[in-house]
Amino acid sequence: MREQSVDALLVSVGHDLPYLVGYHAMPLERLTALVVTASSATLLVPRLEAPRVERHDDVFDLVSWDETDDPVAMVAVLLEKASKVAVGDQMWSRFLVDLLRHLPGRQYVRSVDVVGLLRASKDDAEIAALMAAGAAADRVAAQLQRGEISLVGCTEAEVSADISARLIAEGHDVVNFAIVAAGENAASPHHHPGRREIRRGEIVLCDFGGTMNGYCSDITRCVYLGEPPADVQRAWNDLRRAQEAGVQAGVVGGTCESVDTAARSVLEAAGWGEYFIHRTGHGIGMEAHEEPYMVRGNTLPIVHGHAFSVEPGIYVPGKWGMRLEDIVVATASGPQRMNNAVRELVAL
Ligand code: ZN
Ligand code: ZN
Ligand code: ZN
Repeated sequence: MREQSVDALLVSVGHDLPYLVGYHAMPLERLTALVVTASSATLLVPRLEAPRVERHDDVFDLVSWDETDDPVAMVAVLLEKASKVAVGDQMWSRFLVDLLRHLPGRQYVRSVDVVGLLRASKDDAEIAALMAAGAAADRVAAQLQRGEISLVGCTEAEVSADISARLIAEGHDVVNFAIVAAGENAASPHHHPGRREIRRGEIVLCDFGGTMNGYCSDITRCVYLGEPPADVQRAWNDLRRAQEAGVQAGVVGGTCESVDTAARSVLEAAGWGEYFIHRTGHGIGMEAHEEPYMVRGNTLPIVHGHAFSVEPGIYVPGKWGMRLEDIVVATASGPQRMNNAVRELVAL
């Protein structure tokens, strides 16, 4: 906060709050807010949710508000002396809009300026949690690649539900997403699995992850139902090289954009440049997508403990799509993958 000349930090729902005080706010119309100033930290919660808070009296004061109180007014009192306030990305705008009336003339910035870089570099316990979640996701990927998950004749939605159940069975507490996209649907990177039936002779893209002990997994593998045609196999070989190049660029002292450039230049040289329509990766931790983003223009230096995805893709509209994704952590001894399921285009 001092470095950013921020006088007060205000976070609510979202992951800055559990990162700082270990408490997950319920995403409801009743305001939960942590207000941090140079001299105090106050967690304001609805009285009925106070029993859920694990007290840390050495870290924050707990204040609960009653149904007839105005919690925004209470926050405004805590922020009275602050002229620059950093606000959590996911705090509902209804609270911020109210607060603006209480505190005119303040400068507001995003809390990511303060907390984002702290959260981006993981400590050893966080790396261990990410590795455990990654290993659990790998086990589901291996089941997919061994043909243990029914595909042909099933709908994408059915396969998505199956993968979700397997993520839980392998130790995740919640499933965050399970994208299953068959054939031409795989050309839409964030396809919503639907009633489309999966057939032989097509690619199936599966991108799934959940949260385990507070930290996320995220992996993408593709299988081909039958022998992949030559153009698809050639594309996959190029994609693997691009992903490997992206992983190897994830070194301490490099930059976030260098990971993107490394992967993208392989695909561009192979003629797929126009079909790679998104950034190469995102940070991962308590949230599936968080700082740092591996995207052109992000010159942030990579430091020890940065954990991020490397997930180039090739998307040919109306025909097929493919993506290969691993989570990587940058360490002093080089980039370390957290996903180790085989990276072939497995033919089933
Ligand atoms: Zn995604
Ligand atoms: Zn993913
Ligand atoms: Zn991802």
